[in-house]
Amino acid sequence: MTQNLPSNIILATGIPGAGVSTVIKASGVKFTYLNFGDVMFKMGKERGYVKARDEIRKLKIAAQKEMQLLAAVEIQETEGTLKLVDTHCTIKTPEGFYPGFPTAVLERLNPRAIIIVEAEPKDVLKRRNKDKTRKRDTDTLDQIAEHQLMNRMAAMSYASSLGIPILIVENEQNKIEPAAEKVAGIMKNVAERWG
Ligand code: AMP
Ligand code: MG
Repeated sequence: MTQNLPSNIILATGIPGAGVSTVIKASGVKFTYLNFGDVMFKMGKERGYVKARDEIRKLKIAAQKEMQLLAAVEIQETEGTLKLVDTHCTIKTPEGFYPGFPTAVLERLNPRAIIIVEAEPKDVLKRRNKDKTRKRDTDTLDQIAEHQLMNRMAAMSYASSLGIPILIVENEQNKIEPAAEKVAGIMKNVAERWG
């Protein structure tokens, strides 16, 4: 059996509106930022599957799987000492919760750790309503809580199959520092190993 070597990729995850990119950027640690959705969108657009990024999750599962694998390959091959991949543990599709990292995709990326950024459902809802650039699905507070729970479960299955840690950080409204400090710790750990 081939043993996967430790990688320089960290998955930075959280439901839309949880504030993933805000928290990792506030960490003060230098890293290469990669957005999984951006890469999937580019691949999907090139193939004529989608015109907007909020159409990706409505595609047939087979097409989403194809885009995921292509995105994983491109991200794996991107240069960077510490690569933070902004992404999702599960995607809410018309067919139900779909894993952000089915086995083939997870193994291709082989992340070193998973960060989950969570927030209070009422804060998530507020942030989503403010962001007019996106075509978000309308979720209730209970549905937001359920999605965050599903993400924890999905993350644990990825973590146990690779043997990697999960860091859960609470992104409290107007209190970014504690969350940023928490993620900085794990980012420094991985960066030191590779820098
Ligand atoms: P975002 O801007 O982070 O909401 O990402 C845009 C879209 O990319 C999402 O709505 C998903 O359809 C897709 N996406 C991002 N990460 C993944 C992933 N790991 N697996 C499947 N789809 C993803
Ligand atoms: Mg995002």
